[in-house]
Amino acid sequence: MKTQVIIVFFILTAVGSVAMGGENTNPPAFPETPVAFMGDWVGTWEVGEEKHPEIAAQVIAQGSDEYQIILVSKLYVRTPPILTITAKVIDGSLGFDDGFFWGEITGDTFVGGKRDEDSSAFQMKPFTLQSPSLGAKPPWNAIVLFDGSNFTQWKRFPRGAFWNILETGILQANPKLGAIETNRKFKDCKLHLEFRTPYLPEARGQNRGNSGVFVQDYYEVQILDSYGLQGYWNECGAIYRISAPYVNMCLPPLQWQTYDIEFRAARFDRRGKLKENARMTVIHNGVVVQKDQKILHGTSGDAKSPPVSPIKTPEPLHLQAHGNCVQFRNIWIRDLTNNGVKRKHQLYSKR
Ligand code: MG
Repeated sequence: MKTQVIIVFFILTAVGSVAMGGENTNPPAFPETPVAFMGDWVGTWEVGEEKHPEIAAQVIAQGSDEYQIILVSKLYVRTPPILTITAKVIDGSLGFDDGFFWGEITGDTFVGGKRDEDSSAFQMKPFTLQSPSLGAKPPWNAIVLFDGSNFTQWKRFPRGAFWNILETGILQANPKLGAIETNRKFKDCKLHLEFRTPYLPEARGQNRGNSGVFVQDYYEVQILDSYGLQGYWNECGAIYRISAPYVNMCLPPLQWQTYDIEFRAARFDRRGKLKENARMTVIHNGVVVQKDQKILHGTSGDAKSPPVSPIKTPEPLHLQAHGNCVQFRNIWIRDLTNNGVKRKHQLYSKR
């Protein structure tokens, strides 16, 4: 009986592996054509003689022809919005009118204003923020972890599982399988990584484009489609449960984003007693969202379990599979502990 069960298991595993191997093209969550209305908008707002040159908006797709529109005075700043409103597509245009504010997007033009101010009007056009470190070349002393061609720097777990390398040289998390981790282990390091989240308009919260970069295996920098949201401790740019990003730099789904992370591992004395906590600087799309942030313990998705003590040993870098096919490219790392010369923390000196 036991033998039969094992045989059935291996047959199912083999069939599953063949099926996975066929998934080497973009899934529907990465449509080729741009999603209408979604994304950043910038423009001017005139009220009589007055001008507000930096009116902007973030438009979030929510499925069923519904979008959330957030009007702000400036993009990518932690500031209260002017207006947050749900809008519906009617006759090809996205419009709203709450009796106080009105607005309408048709094609590439977003117009609107305030009802109580006759001469109030704004006009915006689409805007695309591009990270300055997109396509950054690995320096001579970097280890290239993924350049689109192969998987040789990575291990898969559980054993036998694997992610997909698409025909376009993109690494895609396989939501049916577990995380992947590097063969090499690291302590102090500097990492460059590019990612983009899938278009999942019906999904919400942690089910929307979730993955994560685990440095020294236990410290997660969250990856999530938290475009336009508050920028909390469990959203993109956060060190999970430890520290919210200074500002939410998350770009809309489908758009390539960058993480440039510098990590300094915890320090211990000869008896193994903690001397200094781990620290991390995270640059998200060119903006520092965590600066030399102290990390008191390992990050965990489970608030009920006791926190993981600071890590003493070198550990792999791992990428999380969390139910969504997040995509990656251009991943490289500099080992700052074992890089020939023992270096000091690179960007920010020890406090
Ligand atoms: Mg995650």
